[in-house]
Amino acid sequence: MAETCLNIGLVAHDAMKATLLDWVTRNKSILEKHRFCATGTTWKVLTDIHRDMKIERLKSGPMGGDQQLGARICEGKLDVLIFFQDPMTAQPHDVDVKALVRMSTLYDIPLACNPATADLIITNPAFAHPAR
Ligand code: PGA
Repeated sequence: MAETCLNIGLVAHDAMKATLLDWVTRNKSILEKHRFCATGTTWKVLTDIHRDMKIERLKSGPMGGDQQLGARICEGKLDVLIFFQDPMTAQPHDVDVKALVRMSTLYDIPLACNPATADLIITNPAFAHPAR
């Protein structure tokens, strides 16, 4: 079966950035054949450690990065969203967070808000061999 590259968005709220970095580090061998974009500060945290990973840098989430991801979803340019949200802190850009989650729901994009769900997505056979 031909291996297809998925477009994966990576975002983590500040309190969850270490969790996302740990998740990416733990799953790097599964992830590396895919294509990534990340909101600005998340991008920095990930690429400071994983210098070899090619991740497109978007605007910081509160500065429009979440909206860039939402636009990609509605344009059919994002296949999976890994978005580790902080459940304990109110976000100043909550409207953008809600809009991004809404776009994922509307367009039926797999969305992981925590590592357990992200693990389920990347271990699904469809992740290794997507139909598209
Ligand atoms: P950031 O954005 O990666 O620029 O911190 C994350 C977010 O949407 O809160």
